[in-house]
Amino acid sequence: MTSPLPPLVTPPSRILMGPGPSDVDPRVLAALCAPTVGHLDPYFLKIMDELQGMLRQVFRTQNRLTLAVSGTGSAGMETCVANLIEPGDKMVVGVNGVFGGRMADVAARCGAEVIKIERPFGEVFDPAEIEAAMKTHRPKVVGLVNAETSTGAYQPMPEIAKIVHAQGGLIVMDCVTSLAGMPVEIDGWDIDAAYSGTQKCLSCPPGLAPVTFGDRAVAALDARKTKVQSWYLDLQMVKEYWGGSRAYHHTAPINMNYALHAALRCVLEEGLEQRWARHAKLHQVLRAGLEALGLSYVVAEPYRLPMLNSVRIPDGIDDAKVRSLLLQEFGLEIGGGLGPMKGKVWRIGLMGAACTPKNVVTCVSALEYALRKNGNNVTPGAGPAAVTAALLA
Ligand SMILES: *Cc1c(COP(=O)(O)O)cnc(C)c1O
Repeated sequence: MTSPLPPLVTPPSRILMGPGPSDVDPRVLAALCAPTVGHLDPYFLKIMDELQGMLRQVFRTQNRLTLAVSGTGSAGMETCVANLIEPGDKMVVGVNGVFGGRMADVAARCGAEVIKIERPFGEVFDPAEIEAAMKTHRPKVVGLVNAETSTGAYQPMPEIAKIVHAQGGLIVMDCVTSLAGMPVEIDGWDIDAAYSGTQKCLSCPPGLAPVTFGDRAVAALDARKTKVQSWYLDLQMVKEYWGGSRAYHHTAPINMNYALHAALRCVLEEGLEQRWARHAKLHQVLRAGLEALGLSYVVAEPYRLPMLNSVRIPDGIDDAKVRSLLLQEFGLEIGGGLGPMKGKVWRIGLMGAACTPKNVVTCVSALEYALRKNGNNVTPGAGPAAVTAALLA
């Protein structure tokens, strides 16, 4: 007996305003559909070189070792940690959300002696805490999340990077969510190694992880006494393909690299600063609308991320009901809470191509309707009126 073939893939139309993936620019989708060539085809090698050049511009770095790891943002995290850590090395990891916790887990799997410094979800670390941890533990590496997508909190980096370097450490930064949505300055902040993902503010489908390594980090790779625990993510081999002897390591995901090339081109065509300004402005517009609906932010104002708005779910409102109504009636996806915030917060993303006035208007209007439909007595029109006023401001 044969079962009938499933229908062809025909995804519903969605507005992606969750924690990622975000809406993808049609030019990026078109690049994804271009004919596949070989991974050593001169055409593809040219695409790789151009992609590396554009990545350096977006990371704001001169680092030679800048490339796109095959895999999602988490593969970028593993690449940075696995290449810098040898068994027995000490690594301090700041854990104030899910992604800091993930980095600590990855470090332990690489054989690091992990020292977690913790903060409640929604808070950030201050330089003095990092300095104290450096002095007590003398770690080889410190890992921090610049934009903690699980909470919406922004971790300032430059002062901490200075402290880490003064104590002889290396700093690894997660900029999966911050890159291309707010200022990220790899060279300006003196970051040793950083990783990102394609599916947040770069507005490309999930599948690649941009990484960059500076001189100190490259020296640490060269000084390793043991092999990198992961064969797939070993940069000594991967980097040969990305600009050295072009030796085959693994087959590059050709079409994903086309897509990232197109996405980076979109970012640079808009202008990085203009893109940051768009996210900052529309964050204020969204905020006006959400506050008019009676929703309050989880994170203190100076540390709020423009691209990830975490707000408390009002008493008496059922998280799952509201989110499924938004999805079914408006094709709108917003995120729920993770870890200790599950059921307590919504995470509303404003990432890349999804960060538009049209989406903010839709989101606030739809949320107002969903809240009223679920028994909340917010004044009709309060949300859209605040959005209009903020757009005009
Ligand atoms: C999304 C995200 C990751 C993981 O990326 P995946 O693409 O899900 O593997 C890591 N760190 C942060 C801060 C993220 O937002």
